[in-house]
This record gives sequence, structure tokens and C-alpha cells, in this order.
Amino acid sequence: MIPQNNTVRLHSVIAKSSVNGPGERLVIFFQGCEKKCHGCINPQTHDKNGGYLMNIDELFEFSTENSSIEGITLSGGEPFLQPKAVYEISKKAYQLGLSVIISTGLTLDELKLIPSFNKISRYVDVIIAGPYQHHERVAIGIIGSANKQIVLFSSRYSLQDFIPKRNMEIIIEKGKVIGTGTSLYDNFDWKTF
Ligand code: SF4
Repeated sequence: MIPQNNTVRLHSVIAKSSVNGPGERLVIFFQGCEKKCHGCINPQTHDKNGGYLMNIDELFEFSTENSSIEGITLSGGEPFLQPKAVYEISKKAYQLGLSVIISTGLTLDELKLIPSFNKISRYVDVIIAGPYQHHERVAIGIIGSANKQIVLFSSRYSLQDFIPKRNMEIIIEKGKVIGTGTSLYDNFDWKTF
């Protein structure tokens, strides 16, 4: 089902993470991806009909209340399969003074073919662009493989900010145990986690 206006199809949300970009960040994992990168650590996000629909205003109310975050990170899944939701979420975050980072499997050239990309990029600080390539795996914080391009759209961050203090995180939130961070892939059997 295609999300309606002001709605996004999500896989999951982490209210506060420190391994998905600089500072503490709300992380929004979009549902749906067509890339099928070998070695993807989030295959559960691929089904475009999976996950759940959420109103974007409610997403912010739920996620930013009582939370001192520096910004948001959009990940997935592939955020740009839902460009309208990316636009609405990024604009809302920008208006709240939050920084916006997007991790995508698309290259910068592919992103430029999206009609609304210029409009979206006005509200975005950084895009981590390009497919995950397992043979170039580095697993440095939010950077999965060495081919990934860090594209700065504002002066808020520099490339140095993407050298993380830690690469992995276990979060216990509302009775659930959530693993995030690329190095977890090396340490856990995801089928049994
Ligand atoms: S783009 Fe991301 S979510 Fe999609 S298959 Fe590649 S690594 Fe997985």
C-alpha cells in the first residue's frame, strides 16, 4: 500500500542512538528497499508492504518528547523510495533546529534524478550515498562500506564528524532489546538475536 500524505511506511524507530551519525540522534528506519546488496544487515526492511504506516506529526511527537537529541538520521530500507515522506520529515526536523542525515543505497547521480531531490536537499545536512558493497566493508559507525560517499549539504558537519566514538550499541527500550551499529554484524547471529 502506498503511504498517503503526511504518512510514512517505517520498519522501526530508535528514539536516541549515538552510533548513527554525530551526537545523539533519533533514527528512523524506512521500510522497503529494492537494492538487494549482498551482505545487507537489514534484510527485514526490504519488503515494500512490510513494516507499518505512521503519521509524520505523530512520529515527531512520539520520538522527540523528553528527548535531547541533536538531530535525526533516516535509514532503512531505502528512504528515497518514499521521497515525499523524506521531504516532509526533513523539513519538519529542520524547522525544529535538528540536523538531518540520510543514509541511502542510491548514488548521488541516482539521487539527482529524483524530481524532488533539490527541494529535499535544502533541509538536509549530510547524505551517505551509495550501495553497501560487502567486499569493501569497513563498518565505521554509519559507514558500512568504503565506496559510500559522504556528501555535505551544509556547513554543520565535517567529514571528521563521521569518525565515531563507538561502532555498536545495544539499546533496551520499552522492554525490547535493539541492536544498532554496523559492527554488530560481525558479532551476532542475527537469526537468533
Ligand atoms: S540499500 Fe541498504 S537496505 Fe537496501 S539492500 Fe543495500 S544495504 Fe540493504
